[in-house]
Amino acid sequence: MATSLISLIAVFTIVRAQDFGYEGIKGPSHWGEQYNSCFGKFQSPIDINSLTVKHAKLPPLIFNDSNVPISKTVMKNNGHTVMVSIDSDQRPTIFGGPLSGTYEFAQLHFHWGENDTMGSEDFIDGHSFPMELHMVFYKKQYRNVRSAMENSDGLTVLAFFFHLDDEDNKNYIEITELLPNVSEPETSTTFTRLKSLKDLILNDLNEYYTYHGSLTTPPCSEVVTWIDFKRSIPLSHAQIEVFRTIQDNEGHHLTHNFRPIQPLGDRDVYLITTLDGDDGLFGKDDARIDEPPQNLDHINSEYKQSTLTESTTYKTINNGDNNGLDDHPIPEQRQNDIETTTTSHRRPFHRPKGSDANYIAQANLCIFISFCSILRALSFKI
Ligand SMILES: [Zn+2]
Repeated sequence: MATSLISLIAVFTIVRAQDFGYEGIKGPSHWGEQYNSCFGKFQSPIDINSLTVKHAKLPPLIFNDSNVPISKTVMKNNGHTVMVSIDSDQRPTIFGGPLSGTYEFAQLHFHWGENDTMGSEDFIDGHSFPMELHMVFYKKQYRNVRSAMENSDGLTVLAFFFHLDDEDNKNYIEITELLPNVSEPETSTTFTRLKSLKDLILNDLNEYYTYHGSLTTPPCSEVVTWIDFKRSIPLSHAQIEVFRTIQDNEGHHLTHNFRPIQPLGDRDVYLITTLDGDDGLFGKDDARIDEPPQNLDHINSEYKQSTLTESTTYKTINNGDNNGLDDHPIPEQRQNDIETTTTSHRRPFHRPKGSDANYIAQANLCIFISFCSILRALSFKI
């Protein structure tokens, strides 16, 4: 009985979470009246100040969508945005960077504005972009999105900004052609020509801002590791304009669907660049490297252990399988679907030749530096 009641409440909450908008009494300033988290201290979006962010170096973010059947990729108008999901057991995964563990793709969607001067959710230095893509992943160990949302590290969102370009972006032609098929809420359509979700994002995942924040729609859960890429994706005015033609739940054109900026509070935002083989554990530019976020030491350590204990062949997409992610080591083997896997297992992945030696050398260097520090503390002259 109690379980049924909890389930009913959960379903009710999810249904209610669909009942929001971007104007009037359903607008962002009223979300907190029904969803307490929307008044929280770790809300998104934020305005990222590039002059005050901390700098750190981390292992690469590894995005894998090999063997994902694009024919099962569906785009739906949910009344708030257009959302792309994959109706298959095989979905992209991501790990590395600031993430502890593997995250599995849930969906991607877009935010845009009434005109090309606005539309993105996060800002950079007070600047908004005409559109923003959110690629949402949940931590696999939590088994599904709903359970993941009960944990502070449950979700990660890869955020990509768009900038205006005179030319159409060829990789977005199918999306803009399909948008009229989903002009009404609760309609969906299937991709037939898109080759890979990677075609919709950047090739270079090596430089990004990261911070802890929330969902930007109700219930505003503060469970998101945000990863905002510094480079933006080109898109033409005509292509963005098509997004503004879809209808919301009220039957109006969905001309804008971005939440206003929220206070940063005392949160740190990090600008991350990827460690390369010569950088050492904390980078070679010591003058501009800040202390990593609290959990990053742990992540570096975990990454180091992974690279030391797993032995597989290194492969990049450039090595005969160039789908666009230059120089990124990618996983070669897929995990089983999270819904059918009861025991987690570490996924083998590939790394540059010689990385074992590099990380062993880094570990030895760290031990040596720590030893020297202890000697100094004990006032020994060395
Ligand atoms: Zn979003």
